[in-house]
Amino acid sequence: MHRIIRTKQSGQILGSLLCLIGFAALVAVFWKTWPNVSGSANVFSQLWSEILVGQINLASIVTLRLVYLTVVGTVLLILGVVVLAFSRQIFYVSSASTQLQCPYCRNQWKARRGMGWAECPYCRKFIHPQTVKKV
Ligand SMILES: [Zn+2]
Repeated sequence: MHRIIRTKQSGQILGSLLCLIGFAALVAVFWKTWPNVSGSANVFSQLWSEILVGQINLASIVTLRLVYLTVVGTVLLILGVVVLAFSRQIFYVSSASTQLQCPYCRNQWKARRGMGWAECPYCRKFIHPQTVKKV
């Protein structure tokens, strides 16, 4: 038995993108609040109050409250990790050969692979072999 990890590229891109945006949002929050927080005695409570009251300007057009940015950033980051995790499909493939059967002539033969189209070695038809059993 050996393990094959197949990744869905679209899922990988989407997941990475979500992680990146979420991470960027959280970095922006820290970057905005850190100058006020770093000198504080209680960093975490100061950080939290800064996040609750703080705002951030994006190109002087959009004003975002830091608390929303923090929530959205966290959600996107988690979503990105979930998408990345689900876009990895792990297959356990038997390295032993598989017994295949032709759906037309019912002859059987062994092959390394059980999936996909193949030419029947007996009737020379182009068929989708049926898996009989693992040998
Ligand atoms: Zn056949």
